[in-house]
Amino acid sequence: MDACLSVERELERLSQKYNNIKEHSDTSLEELTSQISNVQEELSKVNKDDELSPLHLHLLNQSSRKIKDTVSKLATEHKELHGGISKIGKAVDRNFVIDNTTCSQPGVFDGENASLLNEVLCEHLLRQGRLDIAEELIKEANLQIDDSRREPFTELNRILEACRERNLDPALQWAQSRHLELKLRGSSLEFRLHKLKFLDLLKEGRHKEALEYSKQFASFASDHTKDVQQLMACLLYSHKGIENSPYASLLDPVHWLDICDVFARDACALLGLSLESPLQVCITAGSVALPSLLQIRQVMQQRQVTGVWTSKDELPVEVDLGPQYRYHSLFACPILRQQCTDANPPVRLSCGHVISRDALNKLTNGNKVKCPYCPLEMTPGDARQINFY
Ligand SMILES: [Zn+2]
Repeated sequence: MDACLSVERELERLSQKYNNIKEHSDTSLEELTSQISNVQEELSKVNKDDELSPLHLHLLNQSSRKIKDTVSKLATEHKELHGGISKIGKAVDRNFVIDNTTCSQPGVFDGENASLLNEVLCEHLLRQGRLDIAEELIKEANLQIDDSRREPFTELNRILEACRERNLDPALQWAQSRHLELKLRGSSLEFRLHKLKFLDLLKEGRHKEALEYSKQFASFASDHTKDVQQLMACLLYSHKGIENSPYASLLDPVHWLDICDVFARDACALLGLSLESPLQVCITAGSVALPSLLQIRQVMQQRQVTGVWTSKDELPVEVDLGPQYRYHSLFACPILRQQCTDANPPVRLSCGHVISRDALNKLTNGNKVKCPYCPLEMTPGDARQINFY
């Protein structure tokens, strides 16, 4: 953060300088233009074949000198600006570590991983609707991405694009064809789409169509009673305009933004896709974690304990990325005070207490193990591995 602030200070200084120079050059150029126009006007009064009077010559000389002076002054100021810009570059170099390779694993993107990385990039592009670039990547990286993997993204993007242009029909069609699945998930997407469509008809003054359309609400009345009541009440104000009614907030443009978010969220959930792009999540998580990792690496090098960070699957320090990056539960063994891993999973003893497999092995005496929390004795085989989701 300090690094960002000190670079920002430099940037502010430069932008202040830039504004000053701009102001100054604008006024000097304006002065010059008006002076040149004056000279032009004076000269236009002279007949074509007449010689210039000494006064005119003096005027001309004076203006050409002024032009030269101003231009050279502007050029100097411009040069100074260059100095400021290169200072920014130096400030960035000074404040940020450029070499992040100390925290990376050599060869991590070699062999099969390179192709996996390309697939992740491709999926990200498909997700973003950048189909042309994705196609190019598939071709150049020789990827095998079949249509079933492309199709959902193409369709979602097409529907979202239409929603942004306030055309709800593709989204409605999509939601109606998945009515039951959405209902089972408790999604209000379909109702929200109908609601927006109905309000849009009312807003456009198509009252009869809106009244006809309100039949769609019948199947949602039990789950969205209050909403349906409000929408039907809107019909009473259709001639006066909903914007002049107690329901004016229903026309807030924010509902159009909301519907895109709700659609993306519910459609991704239904199709078994993550809402956020995995690539984006990885990059953001990495950016958040990197400063701590660079710091610990530096401390390790200073104290010459570089051998500590040898495990490939584990970080030398705990990095908390915040609640939005917690996807599943973790279990720390209360005996070994270590986070459980695939190699050392949590196990449930017959009494119900949970410890890690390694702890169980350490506590086992012959063919008997005694729970460290309650005096129950059992055979190690009674312990069952458990999985947290
Ligand atoms: Zn126990």
